[in-house]
Amino acid sequence: MVKMKACPDCDLLLEVGHLREGERALCPRCDAVLVRGGRSIDAMFALTVSGLILWLASLILPVLVIDFNGTQQALSLWQTAFAMLDQDEWLLALLVAMTTIVAPLIYLGAMLWLLLPLRFGRVPVLVGWVFRLFYANQGWVMLEVFFLSLLVTAVKLTDMAQLLPDWSLLAFIAFMLVMSAMRLLFDADVYWRAVHQCR
Ligand SMILES: [Zn+2]
Repeated sequence: MVKMKACPDCDLLLEVGHLREGERALCPRCDAVLVRGGRSIDAMFALTVSGLILWLASLILPVLVIDFNGTQQALSLWQTAFAMLDQDEWLLALLVAMTTIVAPLIYLGAMLWLLLPLRFGRVPVLVGWVFRLFYANQGWVMLEVFFLSLLVTAVKLTDMAQLLPDWSLLAFIAFMLVMSAMRLLFDADVYWRAVHQCR
């Protein structure tokens, strides 16, 4: 399969053929990387599972300590969204919930749905629909916003809240790295080729 691709650095228009895993196509004029060959389905699957574990860890482990009239209480990220609701911060609560819970759940869930059956040689049910959902949701997976909402939460609840530089934060940073790797490595062409091989 040959497709046209403009060099991201110098705009030279080039034909790029099919790349195997780990291969790269370079621009002959300026050496910029045009396309990378996608990772195999197995590698994407391993990343998805790691992503799910790290996401759960960064949601469940306490991330903030809040002082409620003298009693200290540790809150996890998803409890933070509810704490914001109690403060009548609807917009913030929605932002925290959307970026920390809903969007990553759809992203990782759709990934799992798309990849797991392929490992058993089956085409996923509703593959086209789930793929479109995955792409539509991608814009919502904004890890910067995820992190920002965490900071804003800490500042908003500032008199009574403290950020815990703890395992939850480590899990969260690892989660960000895994998600970035997934976004970088997922190649729709490689995916659809694998689907057609199963048909
Ligand atoms: Zn170039």
